[in-house]
Amino acid sequence: MDDFDTKDMIVIGGGINGAGIARDAAGRGLDVTLCEKTDFASATSSASTKLIHGGLRYLEHYEFGLVRKALVEREILLKSAPHIIRPLRFVLPYHRALRPALLIRAGLFFYDHMGGRKILPATNQVNFRKSPKGKPLKAQFHIGFEYSDCWVDDARLVVLTIMDAARKGAEILKGWRCVSAKRCDGKWSVLLEDNAGRGRTIHAKTLVNASGALAAELANKFEKPSGSRNQLRLVKGSHIILPKLYDGDHAYTFQEADGRIIFAIPYELNFTLVGTTDMAFQGNPDDVKISASEVDYLCSAISGYLRKSVSPEHAVWQYSGVRPLVDDGEEDASQVTRDYILDLNDWDGRAPLLSVFGGKITTYRKLAEQALHDLSRHLPQCGPAWTADAILPGGDIGGLCHDDYIAELQHEYPWAGRELLARYTRTHGSHATDILANCANEADLGKRFGQGLYEKELCYFKDHEWASAAEDVLWRRTKLGLVMSATEKEAIANWFNGN
Ligand SMILES: Cc1cc2nc3c(=O)[nH]c(=O)nc-3n(C[C@H](O)[C@H](O)[C@H](O)COP(=O)(O)OP(=O)(O)OC[C@H]3O[C@@H](n4cnc5c(N)ncnc54)[C@H](O)[C@@H]3O)c2cc1C
Repeated sequence: MDDFDTKDMIVIGGGINGAGIARDAAGRGLDVTLCEKTDFASATSSASTKLIHGGLRYLEHYEFGLVRKALVEREILLKSAPHIIRPLRFVLPYHRALRPALLIRAGLFFYDHMGGRKILPATNQVNFRKSPKGKPLKAQFHIGFEYSDCWVDDARLVVLTIMDAARKGAEILKGWRCVSAKRCDGKWSVLLEDNAGRGRTIHAKTLVNASGALAAELANKFEKPSGSRNQLRLVKGSHIILPKLYDGDHAYTFQEADGRIIFAIPYELNFTLVGTTDMAFQGNPDDVKISASEVDYLCSAISGYLRKSVSPEHAVWQYSGVRPLVDDGEEDASQVTRDYILDLNDWDGRAPLLSVFGGKITTYRKLAEQALHDLSRHLPQCGPAWTADAILPGGDIGGLCHDDYIAELQHEYPWAGRELLARYTRTHGSHATDILANCANEADLGKRFGQGLYEKELCYFKDHEWASAAEDVLWRRTKLGLVMSATEKEAIANWFNGN
């Protein structure tokens, strides 16, 4: 086999961690292939609470290193993708029977000062009798604390990261499953199979296993007979989506008697996202589903704080994901570490296998940087770290806030309504103009599929974001699945079948 045919790296898994590693590697001049068996972000990376956060709760478990690392990432990521990441204020009501106010104040003081915060506003105390933020809450809550984190469209973060990897030369294979990988002449020989059963073998100097909840299973398979040194603890987490529960663009952090916290977060335009749960998970991660008892738990958590009572039949949608956590021997699922381990097996000159165990959306860029650092001794041509100041596709909106960017677009495309431009801005950032280019009126956007989706945008998703089925567009490239009728969804499926 020619060295010419050997890639520097093959990455298995198109979730946030595989995407981040492929992007970082391609930007350092490496020849990279990324393969994803279904759609990008179709597993855990679209099932998160969608926070770019330090993780206030982890301070209680003394995870200072993780919290600091994550806090620092908040503003780096915010600057890299201001169209899909935004600052979010969290209101945490003080509950007499739970954590003492002094403890909360101390935690928030550290949270404010550990991560070099420059853009996000600091913590303050709120008097619910005077603030409109107290209005949706039960009368027994008099005071609370307000702190900052960020919100992210997780599935879009993945696809934009993959777009950036492709722009930098990475080969992107969607719908290709890695079926086997073996070391051969100091390199990896990796067998892939597509949805139609066609096979392809890729030779690579390094193999990155970023298959999320399946990482331990794959690592054990590739490292036969010894198996991997690390194991995963799979922990299910579920969310429900309810019609908007309160006015305002802030979130609430509700403490529960079991020590957990539940978030209520403004979602899309007219919904509230509520989550999450923490339950040990066994079985196939691809089949994870919310249970009736989780829905009850989330509804009763919310009803314990809000004047408005919430019950399971109010939920308009729900989703579950499996957290691939490093097995640190902790019994309580909610206390298992959220930090990651990069398990590099390159002893005795063997071809390196790097498996990702754990990790959060928030730390994906840092994780990728560390992965490249660890693998660079095997890849002498590997360039230096570069992602800390880089912008993701669509993120160059000229330093403007969303409203100002929408106003700029309205000036350029006066025929397009504000609602449409606002969604384009939130979804595509500066790439909104790629869809609007050469359009002089609404008819130029092509066939109308409803809820502001036109054929030109569908073509954009297909040509630039690898969308190949209605599900990809309805639930990952957008969340229009929440508001579209069955007939509208079917029209999109038919469009994909005919294109
Ligand atoms: C309920 C919940 C809430 C969370 N909330 C947050 C949060 O608010 N903020 C935060 O920072 N983090 C959060 N997380 C954590 C975060 O979502 C995950 O750590 C992260 O998404 C994991 O990404 P990943 O790329 O490792 O895995 P995944 O997203 O699961 O990606 C792995 C990919 O590999 C693919 N794959 C598997 N096997 C193969 C194969 N053989 N061949 C090809 N492809 C394969 C899968 O299809 C999948 O797409 C949350 C997690 C959960 C479950």
